Amino acid sequence: MPYQHILVAVDLTEECDPVMKRAQELASSNHATLSVVHIVEPMAMAFGGDVPMDLSMLQQQQFEQARERLDSFAGKYPDLSADQRHLAYGQPRQEIHRLAEEQGCDLIIVGSHGRHGLALLLGSTANDVLHGAPCDVLAVRLKKPE
Ligand code: AMP
Repeated sequence: MPYQHILVAVDLTEECDPVMKRAQELASSNHATLSVVHIVEPMAMAFGGDVPMDLSMLQQQQFEQARERLDSFAGKYPDLSADQRHLAYGQPRQEIHRLAEEQGCDLIIVGSHGRHGLALLLGSTANDVLHGAPCDVLAVRLKKPE
């Protein structure tokens, strides 16, 4: 069965390009719709939970900046219409799964640094997304920085 709707999770770094390239190839060979999603993580998460100050203004700015970055990223891919770009706020795994379900996606594509050992314990979004995913997940191997 060919895939019908592919969701690519992008962190908006330069590493997105090989992930998008693979996603475009797959979307084209499967005649599938391609959507992208970027998740803005709550600032408090970076500080490990409770922060004794109001971060709402900063978070609003962070969200607006992410919207601009996503629009500029999508500008490189003219086939991506506005309703194929999604920006969400929350925990990446949870939001990527939610959006994949909501949009009826049958494949999620993420980049993977192929971490192992201690580095894996520190967290890999690819690994996280795989667990409990509502559909297939493809992890595109990213090259390690020189
Ligand atoms: P990481 O394991 O955090 O280095 O990220 C690996 C991959 O997870 C990236 O190439 C993206 O596909 C995905 N990813 C990481 N952070 C985000 C984010 N904030 N929004 C969407 N996708 C993300």
